[in-house]
Amino acid sequence: MRLRHLLLLSQLPFWALLLASFLTLQSSLDRRVQTLAQSTQIRTQLEQVNALLTHVVDMETGVRGYVIAGQPTFLEPYYRGETGYAVTLGELKSRGLDGTGGAHLARITALISQWQTEVAQPEIRLRSQAPGQAESLVRSGRGKRLLDQVRGEMDRLAQTLGTQLQVVNAAAERQLALLRRELALAAALLLLLSVGTVLGAARLLTHPLEALGRGTRRVTDQEATPVEERGPREYRDLARAFNHMTRGVQDARQASADAAAQLAARNAWLSELARLSDALQAARSVDEASQLLTRALPHLLPGTSGQLLQHNASRNLLVPAAQWGEAAPLPSPDTCWALRRGELQGDPTQRPFMPGCAGQPQPYLCAPLFSHGETLGLLRVQPGPSTPPDAVTDVARQVALALAGLRLQDRLLQQSIRDPLTGLFNRRHLETQLAAGVAAAHTLGTPLHLITLDIDHFKRLNDTFGHDAGDAALVRVSAALRELAPPGSTPARPGGEEFTLLLPQGDAPEAAALAEQVRAAVAGLTLTHDGISLGQVTVSLGVATLPAGGTGAGLTAAADQALYQSKRTGRNRVTLAGELQAVSPGR
Ligand code: GH3
Ligand code: MG
Ligand code: MG
Repeated sequence: MRLRHLLLLSQLPFWALLLASFLTLQSSLDRRVQTLAQSTQIRTQLEQVNALLTHVVDMETGVRGYVIAGQPTFLEPYYRGETGYAVTLGELKSRGLDGTGGAHLARITALISQWQTEVAQPEIRLRSQAPGQAESLVRSGRGKRLLDQVRGEMDRLAQTLGTQLQVVNAAAERQLALLRRELALAAALLLLLSVGTVLGAARLLTHPLEALGRGTRRVTDQEATPVEERGPREYRDLARAFNHMTRGVQDARQASADAAAQLAARNAWLSELARLSDALQAARSVDEASQLLTRALPHLLPGTSGQLLQHNASRNLLVPAAQWGEAAPLPSPDTCWALRRGELQGDPTQRPFMPGCAGQPQPYLCAPLFSHGETLGLLRVQPGPSTPPDAVTDVARQVALALAGLRLQDRLLQQSIRDPLTGLFNRRHLETQLAAGVAAAHTLGTPLHLITLDIDHFKRLNDTFGHDAGDAALVRVSAALRELAPPGSTPARPGGEEFTLLLPQGDAPEAAALAEQVRAAVAGLTLTHDGISLGQVTVSLGVATLPAGGTGAGLTAAADQALYQSKRTGRNRVTLAGELQAVSPGR
């Protein structure tokens, strides 16, 4: 309902009461006016009764004076009284006396008629003709009795009218009192209703405004309880608009809080990623980095399963460097769209039409590991319900950087410690390992043996079959040495056609036996180059064991000395240092 209609409606009871009061008072006033009119009429009747009595007295006085004096002028009061009596009687009758008053008046008129016909008129007539008869008629007292009766009736009539007047006056008094009470009641009711309607209207107008005020304070106090949509239509529209605005404010506040929380979570996550990146920078090898990632990725990508996959050496397979969560079949580099396109695949919000791994729609997010123009592998994540695709891309970027760095580092390291032709360790690495072995032997008491070997008559082989054939022979001999080198030992090529095997384990006889195995293995090789047999290649070996307190140089010298002894004593044999005698005579 509109406000103006409501305000008009709220005033309706007031107006209705006003109208009812007016009608009641008007009716009471009418009754009182009627009563007053009645009172006035009775008073007039009383006056007329008195006037009637005066006229009767005039008539009686006139007749008596004429009878005594005999002069016609004495009859004037009689005739005046007679005329006045007739007029007054007519008026009195016209006022309609009824009941007891009417009966009294009827008797009065009858008595006066009787007095006129039986007393007054005979006395007037007889006075002029027979005065004695007239006097005797007067002395008979008939006239006096009739008029006494008339006076008596008039008194009773006056008494009756007086009683009626009292009744009417009492009624008038009661009506006045009632009118006063009605006036007071109407005034009080109107006052109360006026105050009530004003208060009601004020409440009607202020209540919704107060509710809006409270709602506004609640919004300011971070609450968003909607205000009640009630009251006139304008207020309900206002409350509805206010609630709409409140929802907007609350949504904006919530969005802002969510954004802040997301930003904080993202910052915390980026800090974690930065810590992982630092740790990866400190890693010494890809293996170490893989172990780190196996532990870190489930924390960085919670609720996920996944794999960090690297290309194998021939780049035809993806092999896992780290795995977490549920195991999944390995994808092939050929069918992987992420590797083909060099960008994140599987984000349904970005490219819902793109196929996943092996062309199958699948729940994986695949980010290629891409650095310095080279694809290193793939980060493959089965996302949880709240894994943002960006997180996978960010992790992949950091991992790719770290892996590229480690690969480069590894490549440089290998280049610095490996002999490029044979892949065995070079002299520098051998010396490092020798120094470490000597230090370990001194501090930990571990054994240390050095086997040195030199190809026999290699110059002749070079001269006969060419340098390339010599290189091929070097590669085959080094492969034989590497195959027999136990884990933890250092097979090396210090230079030319000389090789060593540094053994930080076993005893001297075991080292000698191993040297003999190497000799036999090389001697058993069938060497060809470009389809031409190179004939048998043999090696001479020297074996030395580090004595207590011995040095690396001493060990090398002892092994060399033993090797030369093998050369001197016929080649293709093993000589133990110290004994300087061949333990494996050549064939
Ligand atoms: P011995 O049995 O006494 O050891 O005789 P030898 O001919 O093997 O020894 P010598 O020291 O006379 O000759 C070593 C040769 O090895 C000389 C050199 O040309 C050859 N040589 C050294 N390094 C390489 C290499 O990297 N490739 C090839 N093909 N030959 C090499
Ligand atoms: Mg040599
Ligand atoms: Mg040689």
